[in-house]
Amino acid sequence: MKSKVVVALLLAGGLSAAAVAQQSQPGAAPAGRPAAGPPRATLPPPEPIEHITGNVYKIFGGGGNTLVVVQDKGVVLVDTKMPGNGEAILNEVRKVTDKPITTIISTHSHPDHTGSTDFIRERYPNVRIIMSEGTKAELAANPRGNPALLPTETYKDRLTIGEGSERIELYHTGVGHTGGDTFVVVPSAKLLFMGDVMAWNMAPFLPAGGAAAIADETERLVAAVKDIDIVVEGHGHVNDWAGLVRLSHFNRALINEARAAYDRGDAPGVAVAQLQKNPEFAPLLDTHIKKGLEYGNTPLARAHMNVNIAYTEFAGEQAGFGIANGAPLPATDKHKGSDPKDTAPPTPEMLAAAVAK
Ligand SMILES: [Zn+2]
Ligand SMILES: [Zn+2]
Repeated sequence: MKSKVVVALLLAGGLSAAAVAQQSQPGAAPAGRPAAGPPRATLPPPEPIEHITGNVYKIFGGGGNTLVVVQDKGVVLVDTKMPGNGEAILNEVRKVTDKPITTIISTHSHPDHTGSTDFIRERYPNVRIIMSEGTKAELAANPRGNPALLPTETYKDRLTIGEGSERIELYHTGVGHTGGDTFVVVPSAKLLFMGDVMAWNMAPFLPAGGAAAIADETERLVAAVKDIDIVVEGHGHVNDWAGLVRLSHFNRALINEARAAYDRGDAPGVAVAQLQKNPEFAPLLDTHIKKGLEYGNTPLARAHMNVNIAYTEFAGEQAGFGIANGAPLPATDKHKGSDPKDTAPPTPEMLAAAVAK
């Protein structure tokens, strides 16, 4: 895929921008829809800061959720949205505290989570910027990357910041959404911030492949963290521990059903039909567009996209960004192709019927 398209997709949110992907690929759009054109919808702007619990808040929109933890001497931010949202983030933080920003944690390298770090760093030159080694490597490898997004410190698998009731724990449990995914635990609030390994209560976007890896990563996280009630997703709404456990079961079941269907010589859609038989998975196979994700697609379509990714991995093929974003899987001598309808962009009717959760 052309690098310009990849950048456009990342800028579209680093999350499923199926319509953008398909409209960018000649021949990928279904009959009756334009094969090329501008993105259908853009990211929603930042919303007013919301209280989650205790000293923890979140700011939705403008990219990924920004988590705000107000501590004794200052404020810890997790993720900084797309470029250009620094002022909005600081204005929202000012509604709940006058304390300075002391720490920024980046959950991963995508621009909708790191984009406004430079602005905040300029306002607070002593701010600590913390991310995994993998995330730093991805940011540093981008030839058009912004050096002001790079960290002041990194960690490998696990890091504790602060002490006592102000302790924050960082976990990296493997590759999946990116090569450097970080999970953030605020023990005093029994809260876990997921980044894009969990976003919009659907299977994760896999721009670099990793349909098998994401199942391992999520299971390791569930095994590693304890005493969590609140699970804040990288985009969208606040979930709970049961929601994360459901996602972990789903990621494992998806790769298992994909493997079985692949080995039988079935089309990828058969694996999704198997997943639909399990009532536990119903929320992750929902057929509605989520409010705020009009630029993306439904949970059901994402499940199809991830099975398609799994097929490319079984076959040793290069998945590429397009398949992860909803381009149909072409048939090869190793497997059947996917039905273009399964990952087609949402219809105007679906967009009009977008649901809040
Ligand atoms: Zn992302
Ligand atoms: Zn994102």
